[in-house]
Amino acid sequence: MSNNHAVIIGAGAAGLMCAISAAESGVDVLVIDHANKAGKKILISGGGRCNFTNMYTEPSNYLSQNPHFCKSALKRYTQWDFIAEVDRVGLPWHEKKLGQLFSDNKSQAILDMLLNRCDELGVTIRLNCTMETVSQQENGFILNTNQGVIECHALVVASGAMSFPTMGATDFGHKLAKKFGLNITETRPGLVPFTLDARDLAPLKNLSGVAIDAMVSCRDMSFRENILFTHKGLSGPAILQISSYWKPGQSVTVCMLPDIDLAQFFKDAQQNQPNKQLNTVLRQHFPERLIEAFCQDFDLSKPLQQYKHKDLTSIAERFQNWQFIPSGTEGYKKAEVTLGGVDTDEVSSKTFEAKSVKGLYFIGEVLDVTGHLGGFNFQWAWASGHCCGKAIADSMTA
Ligand SMILES: Cc1cc2nc3c(=O)[nH]c(=O)nc-3n(C[C@H](O)[C@H](O)[C@H](O)COP(=O)(O)OP(=O)(O)OC[C@H]3O[C@@H](n4cnc5c(N)ncnc54)[C@H](O)[C@@H]3O)c2cc1C
Repeated sequence: MSNNHAVIIGAGAAGLMCAISAAESGVDVLVIDHANKAGKKILISGGGRCNFTNMYTEPSNYLSQNPHFCKSALKRYTQWDFIAEVDRVGLPWHEKKLGQLFSDNKSQAILDMLLNRCDELGVTIRLNCTMETVSQQENGFILNTNQGVIECHALVVASGAMSFPTMGATDFGHKLAKKFGLNITETRPGLVPFTLDARDLAPLKNLSGVAIDAMVSCRDMSFRENILFTHKGLSGPAILQISSYWKPGQSVTVCMLPDIDLAQFFKDAQQNQPNKQLNTVLRQHFPERLIEAFCQDFDLSKPLQQYKHKDLTSIAERFQNWQFIPSGTEGYKKAEVTLGGVDTDEVSSKTFEAKSVKGLYFIGEVLDVTGHLGGFNFQWAWASGHCCGKAIADSMTA
């Protein structure tokens, strides 16, 4: 049997950061993970270059039943703190767009930075370690694992949630929280591609791979970035962002090339170049395949002067007020995050300790805090992990 001050379940972004900050303050830390490798999601993140934070991180970039919960940790461990750490070890990075910071090197560099620091601080990481039972005892917890019994004073659940099960994701953290009587808010996949039913997909079947700048809206949220047509429906950053706000049955509106008022543009072109074909004018702005798909039933080959205003407005609407109802999403298998999770009302926003279970902590994606696309989810993992680690250290000296 081994006895540790703190055991962290999950060697992902939040768990490793928590281990570092606790160990920096002298806590004896053991991290356990059922996977055969630490930080698998870090490795696949950002297309292999880890979008590790966002320069413009604000609480408004997060979804949660309690939008105030994330404020304290994001303030106490900011994007600049993580950037300072990356700079300290000399890792090169760049801003891709919209404040999104990526590693110049492969994501492995970010993971190595965390693992090397754990190593320097004497943090033990035990992989291939599966949990059989977890129970509370006087002054801590007792874990039965496939690698023996482990005792600890503080137990941190950093096991993430259900998105991308191929990377070791499970609902373990939610089940554990429930076992200790904590509430879980409704969970669903977020940052996930939409699917369309066969009837809606049929006219778009040749568009797979086409991307275009668009403003995508659902309810009162809008995101401006590219959308990407896929063989199942729609993806691309603007779609992933809006998917976190979408609920089944709701309609999504797409305005392609939102900087141009297309109806006005047609009318001006009709006056200035009356003999130009509508087709030619459209090709100035849209890929051929997109025009074919969206105007299949319309003769575009006539000179502009032969169209009525209402016809031109109707063509403009097809591109700039396209509404559809997704049949669903591609699910947890393709979702970058899980929305919902351990109810933030159950957890202290300062320490991340469960209010009703002394010594039990929840950090990272397992909580009901989900970031927008663009580095915000890692920033949440770093911030919650850091603050929890410090709180555990403080509890030792209290
Ligand atoms: C394809 C993809 C790309 C992404 N890209 C980005 C990006 O570029 N920028 C960004 O900010 N966010 C990105 N994200 C989101 C980001 O990866 C997560 O928000 C973040 O990893 C959450 O950190 P976490 O430590 O809470 O959970 P995780 O990183 O999921 O770590 C949880 C750990 O717990 C372990 N675990 C789970 N169950 C058990 C169990 N029962 N017993 C023991 N161990 C267990 C897992 O093996 C895992 O190692 C991406 C996600 C995906 C899927």
